[in-house]
Amino acid sequence: MSIQLNDYREVTGPGVVEELRVLAERVAGRRMQHINSTPVGGGVAEILTRLVPLLRELGLEATWDVIKGDRVFFGVTKAFHNALHGKPEEITEQMFEIYRANTEANLRDIDFTGDVIFVHDPQPAGLIARKKEIARNWVWRCHIDVSAPQPNVWNFLRPYVEQYDAAIFSMPDFAQQLPIAQFRVAPSIDPLSDKNKPLERSYIAGVLEKYGIDAGRPILTQVSRFDRFKDPLGVIAAYRLVKKRYRCQLVLAGGGADDDPEGEAVLREVREAAAGDPDIHVLLLPPFSDLEINALVRASTVVLQKSIREGFGLTVSEALWKKKPVIGGAVGGIKLQIVDGVTGFLVHSSEGAANRLAQLLSDRRLRERLAENGHQHVRQNFLVTRHVKDYLLTMLALEHPRESVVYLS
Ligand code: UDP
Repeated sequence: MSIQLNDYREVTGPGVVEELRVLAERVAGRRMQHINSTPVGGGVAEILTRLVPLLRELGLEATWDVIKGDRVFFGVTKAFHNALHGKPEEITEQMFEIYRANTEANLRDIDFTGDVIFVHDPQPAGLIARKKEIARNWVWRCHIDVSAPQPNVWNFLRPYVEQYDAAIFSMPDFAQQLPIAQFRVAPSIDPLSDKNKPLERSYIAGVLEKYGIDAGRPILTQVSRFDRFKDPLGVIAAYRLVKKRYRCQLVLAGGGADDDPEGEAVLREVREAAAGDPDIHVLLLPPFSDLEINALVRASTVVLQKSIREGFGLTVSEALWKKKPVIGGAVGGIKLQIVDGVTGFLVHSSEGAANRLAQLLSDRRLRERLAENGHQHVRQNFLVTRHVKDYLLTMLALEHPRESVVYLS
């Protein structure tokens, strides 16, 4: 059964849903087009999957297009992605050419129908070239941390970004000096989706059994694409330290994304590092494993997101919503979600993660306190209803630039 807007009343209270309806009346019938680089895998696809149907239910013509690209193009954009996050990458003129050529191909293929067009992240950013012909409002929605980018890649991207009418960043630290309007909109999770909805105990038990995980011993879990920024090897190192004192198990669950060709190599490294330890479960999950991921997180004693670079890290809110204590790397949007010592723990190393793991494994009340605080923090700040509201307000702000102030929540 599909999820209806009214179903959120129970989670958020009726006022939130009413407010969305009132706001949406002001932009009813408008076309809001989203364009990104993968239909599945990663946070952007996760968000759009839920956001677009809700916008439609509110009376907007919301659509979602995905650019095309081959392995070579996505190899280039992954290198750009790493460099924009501040990891040194060797970028050649040929790589810029590949980006330009792929952009040209997508400019021919995509139908630009939106009254407002949200272009997500750097991969499709070059599509702004079409603005000269069709005008409309164009928004560059940046989900990554571009606060300290490698200069040659940012200098390449910047002329594209400056042609947009506005840019949206997930947190103020990510904003750049730009001659266009900038908004801050944090990402969100959907409390009613398969990824996050409550599950029957028997289903959770079945998933543990399927993967050979022992329900009777502590389970430490990280759910992530196999990506070096997610530091899966650092998670294994932390587990090994804590394993000396606690008979725990580690679950590293992840899948691939079409726009991330590095995944296979990282998965190989993870499997090598985990080899010989039957208590490390490296699970390569196919797309649309949301119910199983939900179950694995619900079965966990502690959830990790030990990233060393991060845009937002939806997996943190997904775990906090399920009232799980979370240990996260002190980077990017993880710092919005984890208030250190209040809604979870922030760490800077595997040793730090191991210390916090030991502390949490030995103290059930601490686990419960952090988890309850985390749940409330997500309820107030990171649910999809707030995200829908922010996009409606962005649309209004673009349509009425002279109307004094439009507040984003
Ligand atoms: N995810 C998933 N399957 C996987 C790995 C991740 O469904 O095998 C989901 C995860 O639950 C989250 C999203 O993909 O909703 C990842 O978003 P996040 O912001 O944490 O990281 P990103 O991949 O965008 O860097």
